[in-house]
Amino acid sequence: MSQPPCDAAIIGAGPGGYVGALRIAAMGGRATLIEQRAVGGVCLNTGCIPTKALLHVSKLYADLKDAGAMGIHVDGVGFDFAQAVAYKDKIVERLTKGLSTLLKQRGVDVITGRGRLIDANTVGVDSADGVLRINARNIILAPGTVAASLPGIDPDGRQILDTDHVLAMRELPESILIIGAGPNGVETATMLAELGSRVTLVEVLDRVLPTVDPEAGKEVARSLKKRRVTLHCKTKIDGVERRGDRVVSQLSDGQTVETAAVLVAVGRRTQIDGLGLDEVGVRHDGRFVEIDEGCATSVPGVYAVGDVTGRGPYAHVAYRQGTVAASNIMGRPMVEDYRVVPTVVFSHPEVAQVGTTEDQARSAGMEVQAGRFRYQASGAAQAFGEPNGFCKLLAEAGTHRVVGATIVGFRAAEVIHEVAVVMKADATVHQIAETIHAHPSLAEPVAEAADALFGVPLHSL
Ligand SMILES: Cc1cc2nc3c(=O)[nH]c(=O)nc-3n(C[C@H](O)[C@H](O)[C@H](O)COP(=O)(O)OP(=O)(O)OC[C@H]3O[C@@H](n4cnc5c(N)ncnc54)[C@H](O)[C@@H]3O)c2cc1C
Repeated sequence: MSQPPCDAAIIGAGPGGYVGALRIAAMGGRATLIEQRAVGGVCLNTGCIPTKALLHVSKLYADLKDAGAMGIHVDGVGFDFAQAVAYKDKIVERLTKGLSTLLKQRGVDVITGRGRLIDANTVGVDSADGVLRINARNIILAPGTVAASLPGIDPDGRQILDTDHVLAMRELPESILIIGAGPNGVETATMLAELGSRVTLVEVLDRVLPTVDPEAGKEVARSLKKRRVTLHCKTKIDGVERRGDRVVSQLSDGQTVETAAVLVAVGRRTQIDGLGLDEVGVRHDGRFVEIDEGCATSVPGVYAVGDVTGRGPYAHVAYRQGTVAASNIMGRPMVEDYRVVPTVVFSHPEVAQVGTTEDQARSAGMEVQAGRFRYQASGAAQAFGEPNGFCKLLAEAGTHRVVGATIVGFRAAEVIHEVAVVMKADATVHQIAETIHAHPSLAEPVAEAADALFGVPLHSL
């Protein structure tokens, strides 16, 4: 079985792979996309979108319960988990169907099966009829990740769960212990606690969200405690035992916690086994595939994009890399330096960051100035009933070039992009301070932080 050569055969139809295919098609090329499960990858099916749909539901529910102070009295406000899950499933179905249609309309061939490199111009797809060989001028590897686990704590999908299982639940667990207070653990803790589960969150490092600015982590820890989440930091899990319909977890701080379920949220691992990397000579370190700024691997004509490259486990990084690889394949050279990558934890409040944090800058020997503004003093944040959070803007001392920001607060995921664009344009804090920001808006805290950085704060001390 063989097909005429296409411009690119792409292994994996997540954000990296499908964007690569759409871009190649938009530039007049022919792409073949090979996917073993469902188009859209982790992001559309079991990641970004379903989790945000459920977080939207949980926030609305929590807001309605708290709306009495605004004069809204909802009698007997109730909650049906099965219906919330159906709402989430409908969104996923709508988006994946839409993507399939778009791929079809753009003329992208989608092949279902598991792909692997045979040589630098051939992908093999195993099927019941034998091996389908796809000949291509170029190949893009976009196999993404699967949930990582902990030794001795194997998810069974019933009582011990990974993040995929949480999204497949049909009943809200009365109680849950979550291992790992990174983005996935914190987002899940937020959602389940808002819906009414009793949540215990255990983190081996000394704080919640260890990779974000410590002030942001503290703000999120406060909000989790308000939702009655019990936090155990600097704590390991010494053992997990199923006892009937309960799970008993032994913590290294000596406590024993009994819950209906345990979620293992300790990150992701890449899927490179069986891809044929060593056979073809694609360099990797056992986890990530090595790429250059144009997403090219060590083998000419073979590119890699998305989580497998280790340049940031975010859908938007994968999107960008899909575009970069596609452009290079279609003869329009493009590179990405990853200097400006906004990241968001969709807790309530949200934590959004771009560029460096204060600590990172200092340990890299960079002298920075910080301007801060608290949401409490923002008219918009007060009016929206969301007064918790802050904006911290960082500039290189002397030049005032913006080098980073951390925003914690309502809609921080949207607001961070003002700073991202300023950084991409290599602009300074002056440009932010001198731009008239609409009032009342959640962008104003960015301008207020810029004023504060120059020592002329407006609505704060
Ligand atoms: C719970 C959760 C929430 C998340 N929330 C966010 C968020 O809010 N924002 C954000 O930016 N990121 C989020 N992420 C991360 C985001 O989903 C990933 O960064 C993104 O999906 C990576 O895209 P990718 O193209 O590299 O791979 P993936 O999305 O992992 O897709 C890879 C695809 O390749 C397929 N595949 C693998 N090997 C083969 C093979 N040999 N043959 C054929 N097919 C193969 C897989 O079946 C899969 O469909 C979240 C992740 C999780 C788990």
